[in-house]
Amino acid sequence: MTHPTIPIMGDGLPPALREMLGSDFEILEWDESPQSTALARAVGLITYGHPRVDGPLMDRVPHLKIISNHGVGVDHIDVAAAKQRGIPVGNTPGCLDASTADMTMALMLATARNVVVGDHFARSPEFTHYDPSQLIGYEVSGSTLGIIGLGRIGKQVARRAQAFEMKVLYHNRKRDEQAERELGVTYAPFDDLLRQADFVSLNCPLTPATTNLIGQRELGLMKTTAILLNIARGPVVDHDALFTALNSRRIAAAGLDVTAPEPLPRNHPLLGLSNVVITPHLGSASNRTRHRMMQMTVDNLHAALKGDPLPWGV
Ligand code: NAP
Repeated sequence: MTHPTIPIMGDGLPPALREMLGSDFEILEWDESPQSTALARAVGLITYGHPRVDGPLMDRVPHLKIISNHGVGVDHIDVAAAKQRGIPVGNTPGCLDASTADMTMALMLATARNVVVGDHFARSPEFTHYDPSQLIGYEVSGSTLGIIGLGRIGKQVARRAQAFEMKVLYHNRKRDEQAERELGVTYAPFDDLLRQADFVSLNCPLTPATTNLIGQRELGLMKTTAILLNIARGPVVDHDALFTALNSRRIAAAGLDVTAPEPLPRNHPLLGLSNVVITPHLGSASNRTRHRMMQMTVDNLHAALKGDPLPWGV
C-alpha cells in the first residue's frame, strides 16, 4: 500500500533536491496560471530559482505552511506579507558564506589581473610572443578593500583579504566593533569608503535602502583606478550609470556576479565592454555548498510541516 504524499510546489527543482525530498512528497511544478490546481493543493513552496512570491500569490495557496527558500537573499519574497499571514519563510544562511566569499575574491583577481581578457588573448592568433608590457593589471596584494555589508559573507571576504595583506574598510548601517577587533577591519562612512578603496565589494542585501545604492554620484567618488565588485544583487547598482563609468574609464573595471535584469538582454551595452567580468550568479555555486543549501531547504520544510520552529527562519 502506498502512503499519501504531501503536495509541495517547486520551480525547476534539480534531481538531487528531489532525491533529498524522498517519497514523502508529491512535487508539483511551479504553475501560477489561473487554472493551476497546484496552488490550491500545495502545502509548501520551495523557491529554488528565485520566483517572485508576493501576498496575492500566497493567497492563492490556501493550505500554505511554509515558503522554503534555497539561498539566503529573500528579496524575491514579500516576507512582511508572509508574516501577516502567519507563513514562515526559511532560508539557508551561513553555509554559503565561504563559497560566496571565494567568488568575490575570484572576481577581484579576474578583474584586477585581466584573467578573462588574458585568456581570450592567449587563445588568439595575436599572441605571438611574451611581451612584458601587455595587460598590466592592478595589484591586489596590499591594496585597500572597502566592503559594503560586512555581514556573514562580508566577514569571510575580509578574512580572505587579510591573506592578501589588504587594508579592509567596511560600511554597515551599524558599526560592528567585535568585527573590528577580531578581523582588524576599519569602519568608514559610506563616502569615505568609496573615495579610499581600490576595490569596493558589495555584500549587502537588496532592500529599498540599497536599491541603486551605487549610482552616478557614488561612482564619481571612486578612484579612477578602482574596481567595483557586485556579489550582492543586481539592483544594488544603477546599471546605466555603471556602463557610463566603465565606458568612460571613470572607474577601472567591474566584476559582476549579479545584474539587473538577470540575465542582461543580449544586446546590453555592458556586455560589449572588456573592463567588466560577468558571471551568471555563481556566488554559492560549489558542490559542497549546494548540497548543504538543499539539505537546509528540506530541513526547513520538514520542520514547518511538523509545526516546529524553522531551524533557519528569516
Ligand atoms: P547578512 O549576514 O545579513 O549581512 C548583510 C550585511 O549588510 C550586514 O552586515 C548589514 O549590516 C549590511 N547592510 C544591510 N543594509 C545595509 C545598508 N543599507 N547599507 C550598508 N550595509 C547594509 O547577509 P549575508 O548572508 O552576508 O548575505 C548578504 C547578501 O548577499 C544576501 O542578502 C544576498 O542578496 C547576497 N548573496 C548573493 C549570493 C550570490 O550568489 N551572488 C549568494 C549569497 C548571498 P547593518 O544591518 O548594520 O547595516
